[in-house]
Amino acid sequence: MKSRGDMTTDRSQQVFLPGSTLGMVGGGQLGRMFAMAASAMGYDVVVFCDTADDPAAQVAHRHVIGPLDDHNTIDRFAEQCDVISLEFENIPAETIARCGRFAPTYPAASVLATAQDRIREKSTFQSAGLPVTPFADVSDRDSLMDAAEKIGWPLVLKTARSGYDGKGQYKLDSAEQAQEVPWDECDHWVAEKFISFEKEVSVVVARRPSGEIQCFPVFENEHANHILDVTMLPAKISASVSETAIRVATAAAEALDVIGLLCVEFFVIGDQVMINEVAPRPHNSGHLTIEACETSQFEQHVRAICNLPLGSTAMKCPAAAMANLLGDCWGGDGQTPSWDRMLEKKGVRLHLYGKRTPKPARKMGHLTVTGFDRDQVRQTALSARESL
Ligand code: AMP
Repeated sequence: MKSRGDMTTDRSQQVFLPGSTLGMVGGGQLGRMFAMAASAMGYDVVVFCDTADDPAAQVAHRHVIGPLDDHNTIDRFAEQCDVISLEFENIPAETIARCGRFAPTYPAASVLATAQDRIREKSTFQSAGLPVTPFADVSDRDSLMDAAEKIGWPLVLKTARSGYDGKGQYKLDSAEQAQEVPWDECDHWVAEKFISFEKEVSVVVARRPSGEIQCFPVFENEHANHILDVTMLPAKISASVSETAIRVATAAAEALDVIGLLCVEFFVIGDQVMINEVAPRPHNSGHLTIEACETSQFEQHVRAICNLPLGSTAMKCPAAAMANLLGDCWGGDGQTPSWDRMLEKKGVRLHLYGKRTPKPARKMGHLTVTGFDRDQVRQTALSARESL
């Protein structure tokens, strides 16, 4: 049931205690793990999604099914909620703005509008004096040549909107390769300098309406085919790189005025960090916080949007590693992987998202290993996944 919050109009003072109803726009795995954390704390969760069998709908108290841009469905969902959040940033900003007529919505539509457009996002951070990969606006082959003059070859051409997990990205080594770009797919691109980074790391920041901010420790990430593959804690970086990443991530959350979580992904080069991209929501690289930290990123997100005191982000164990389980683990014939064999390994925890149809590159679940040594838990995570 929709509950009270307290009815002050100053949202920095408004607190939503357990018993309130939290709305989640999107039915995927991030919504599912959010709903599980919120339920554990005594909240009701209503999910706005495509089908009753979506990963989040399977575990939420209620769901509303319908198109994300349909006013009646948006209203039917939002009127049940005390506070609303989302699990992917490519939701129409107008949908979130309409939700905001009924309940505080975090992140706000203005944050989404920025996070949905790589150029707007990078320009916001650049204006705030934060380090971003050198970039230029591109609309066609000619403007690509101008961009290349500014930032040099090789470069990575990305669609300015709607790209994720490497979709809509092209690494170009020279002007000749511009012919291979499907220019008619999109008329708004960003060209980024190709960065020969040493590592990729991310920082998940939580910020609540009262202004309190808290960061998780820096995660170290490995990607395969542009998709996150493995995350490790602690990151093998110097104390000064770690401090810089946390300082920049905190400043990024403030520059965007995010309430809830913001994940900031960085390239590390020597003792420098550069923001690659951000996501104003729980993030795949934060999944290992469920086992590795005193507060999981999902509980922290609940606390932040409800304006409750943020939880401790301290590690509960010396080391942890998370490996994604993509549909590829099922093999071509869709045969169920050998979960029993995998779980024989001590310290391995399995998370499956309830998706019925495995497809190559589809995120079906993840596994987490905790232990004493960072390289060892990484190795155990990889061999556990291999055993499938
Ligand atoms: P994105 O969707 O922008 O996060 O890109 C996915 C992955 O592609 C990143 O995590 C990097 O591994 C790689 N990548 C993206 N942009 C660049 C870049 N400018 N230079 C080097 N690698 C990149």
